[in-house]
Amino acid sequence: MTTSIDADRLWQSIMDIARIGPTPEGGSCRLALSPVDAEARALLLRWCEKLNLRFEQDAIGNMFLRRKGSDDTAPAVAFGSHLDTVPTGGRFDGVFGVLAGLEVLRSLDAAGIATRAPLELVNWTNEEGSRFRPAMMGSRVHAADMSLADALAITDDHGTSVQQALRTSGQAGPLTPSPRGWSCWLEAHIEQGPIMEATGTDIGIVTGTMHARYFQLTITGEPSHVGPTTMDRRRDSLAATAEIILAIERIAHAAEPLGRASATWIENYPNARGNVANITRLHCDVRHEQAPRAIAMEAALREALNAIKVRRRVAIDIDPYTTFGPTAFDQSLGNLLRRKAAARQLTTRDMIAAAGHDSVLIAAVCPSAMLFVPSVDGITHNPREYSTPEQLARGAQVLLDTVLELAG
Ligand SMILES: [Zn+2]
Repeated sequence: MTTSIDADRLWQSIMDIARIGPTPEGGSCRLALSPVDAEARALLLRWCEKLNLRFEQDAIGNMFLRRKGSDDTAPAVAFGSHLDTVPTGGRFDGVFGVLAGLEVLRSLDAAGIATRAPLELVNWTNEEGSRFRPAMMGSRVHAADMSLADALAITDDHGTSVQQALRTSGQAGPLTPSPRGWSCWLEAHIEQGPIMEATGTDIGIVTGTMHARYFQLTITGEPSHVGPTTMDRRRDSLAATAEIILAIERIAHAAEPLGRASATWIENYPNARGNVANITRLHCDVRHEQAPRAIAMEAALREALNAIKVRRRVAIDIDPYTTFGPTAFDQSLGNLLRRKAAARQLTTRDMIAAAGHDSVLIAAVCPSAMLFVPSVDGITHNPREYSTPEQLARGAQVLLDTVLELAG
């Protein structure tokens, strides 16, 4: 049985979601559990009303939209992604995976096709981790990689907890987060890199992910006056952090092409114009396709921190608060995606995801796989993030064909 997705409807839906939380440069900003995140979720629900789906939500806000199977006791085939974005978000990261899943359900509905197994479309909470760390929070709690209580207690930079944000955004559902007995999980996503475009690939078969290690550093010196305090007496946490940032960049350059490292977030106290800073917090991560190399990058980071600490007489606290990967996705699902793409005369290429995705967590729950569509110029987490309507349609079509085979 084959049926076609509606490329225009998919594109129109992506553009409709993009108008919620628009940024001046043409991108989207929907931080997790913000009013605009809730608005995008509400629009998804409105669309789903027409499809006769059962909506369920768990206590971390994950959304599950279930389409009945002719054998409704069969394990469901699940798919989706996330609607939240980073502050400088584009229109496609995450959104494509959710709306490609919606397009699968709409196409089946329009064609009057019933599957044997039920289908579940999922929107995971706080995939990006921009507002509340760690990233992939909803799927993490679902997969019991983190407890619900720990997640609820996490606060954003303004002291609002996940629990408060879930309540005020109306996203605290009644279900206890836990695996739902799915037979498998599929996620369609934009590549967010330049490889597919450079190699003329239509569909990326994601075979696994890098190994990433995340750190929150607190650098503590001593407050002093910018005038009278001579340079030799200073214990400047901000200057020490400047050295750390450059050390991280050096570690990343040394790990190319398969490794990356970044310092991305900084908080500085007292952040006052007449003060030598005494507390600076820095967020950073190291990652590599080969896990031992990522661990070696961490060792290099710790060595650099030790040297800076001694030379600058500051204290450095290292909180290695989370990791992800390396993940190997299910090979038979990967083979099926490859076969379905080939049947549509689409070119494929095996790929390793450099970014974290909800699928990393779900791979521990049930057989999981991801497919990529190209990102124009490899630009992402940027308003200029773009994939063509045709590229997106191809990804959604392969998702539909694969779901149909899996769900019977
Ligand atoms: Zn994403």
